[in-house]
Amino acid sequence: MAVIIDGKAVAARVKARAAKEAAALAERGVTPGLAVVIVGSDPASRIYVNNKKKACQETGIYSEEYALPEGTSQGELLSLVERLNHDPKISGILVQSPLPGGLDEAALVEAIDPKKDVDAFHPYNVGKLMQGRQIFLPCTPAGVIELLNSANVEIAGKNCVVIGRSDIVGKPMAMLLMQNNGTVTICHSKTQNLAEICRGADILVSAVGKAGFVTGDMVKPGAAVIDVGMNRDENGKLCGDVAFKEAEKTAGCITPVPGGVGPMTIAMLMQNTVTAAKLQKGLC
Ligand code: NAP
Repeated sequence: MAVIIDGKAVAARVKARAAKEAAALAERGVTPGLAVVIVGSDPASRIYVNNKKKACQETGIYSEEYALPEGTSQGELLSLVERLNHDPKISGILVQSPLPGGLDEAALVEAIDPKKDVDAFHPYNVGKLMQGRQIFLPCTPAGVIELLNSANVEIAGKNCVVIGRSDIVGKPMAMLLMQNNGTVTICHSKTQNLAEICRGADILVSAVGKAGFVTGDMVKPGAAVIDVGMNRDENGKLCGDVAFKEAEKTAGCITPVPGGVGPMTIAMLMQNTVTAAKLQKGLC
């Protein structure tokens, strides 16, 4: 049976580390600050934003929330981002996705000062990541690397398979595994022989968004299986992409959903906000 990687425990350690750094900054008169912009009334987004606010309180990070109505225009959002870019209390800016239809999310992300782009979604930060010269690591993939490290999973030289090629998870995940000297294969909806490719993975990361997508027979004995997926099963219960009960019989270690990657994403956001504050004060 696989070792279950406890994402809550690892996230608590990362947040404690960020809190310690925030406290050291406070002694020098610097308080890291995060501004979260949310538009409309998507219930999942509301939960994420509340969790981020709570994590800020726990970590000693000042937070501001801008909850804007559905009909907010692109121009109003751009003005807000511009104001936050110049606000010295704010070290990091995050625009909660998804935005209501009609708003140009990419243009908003590009309007954020790259030094305040704590999600690391700005093309400047994406380019820096490609070159291995990143200021911020994208939160979810960075959280996955922390989880692998916490379980003492060696990445260097290992076959790593990432299922999913989105800008926010799959692509940066593959890049980070490669930076850690893994040999990386990226799979997507047009990949042929996906199950066979997965069976060759020492490290299998699934970021598809389909419950039960990774079945037990796709897992190599002893593999590290990281489930990024956040889905609802037929009873409305939160679940990942991996058929956990099957996969845990074969895997060497595995993340559960909930309690795996999810808590790490917020913990890494706290870390990035502290890093942003240091960067803006010339302290790193
Ligand atoms: P996304 O943008 O929808 O991307 C999904 C990816 O899965 C795409 O690259 C797609 O391939 C691929 N895919 C879909 N069907 C497939 C199939 N049958 N075979 C192989 N690949 C397939 O989703 P995302 O934003 O990356 O998120 C993925 C999942 O992670 C979601 O469940 C999301 O909720 C979750 N998530 C969790 C966290 C967290 O903190 N835990 C953070 C972010 C996202 P194509 O490119 O070919 O369409």
